[in-house]
Amino acid sequence: MKNKEQDIGIYIDFCEVCLDDKYYTIKEEEKIDYARGKEIKYTHKQAYCTECNSPMYISKINDENLDTLYSEIR
Ligand SMILES: [Zn+2]
Repeated sequence: MKNKEQDIGIYIDFCEVCLDDKYYTIKEEEKIDYARGKEIKYTHKQAYCTECNSPMYISKINDENLDTLYSEIR
């Protein structure tokens, strides 16, 4: 089982704005997407660089968001 506490914290990855490895934090946001003609409300995770505050694309987090979205559709 995944522990929610472990998903929220400080991590390091490459920031495309800073062009360097930077710390980032993960924030959970309510997001609404449309799938199969239905409105799907789910918790979307977004990583932010702690240096420049820009959103960062992290494939692991993107995968988690897709998993969450698909589990809401089912
Ligand atoms: Zn940055």
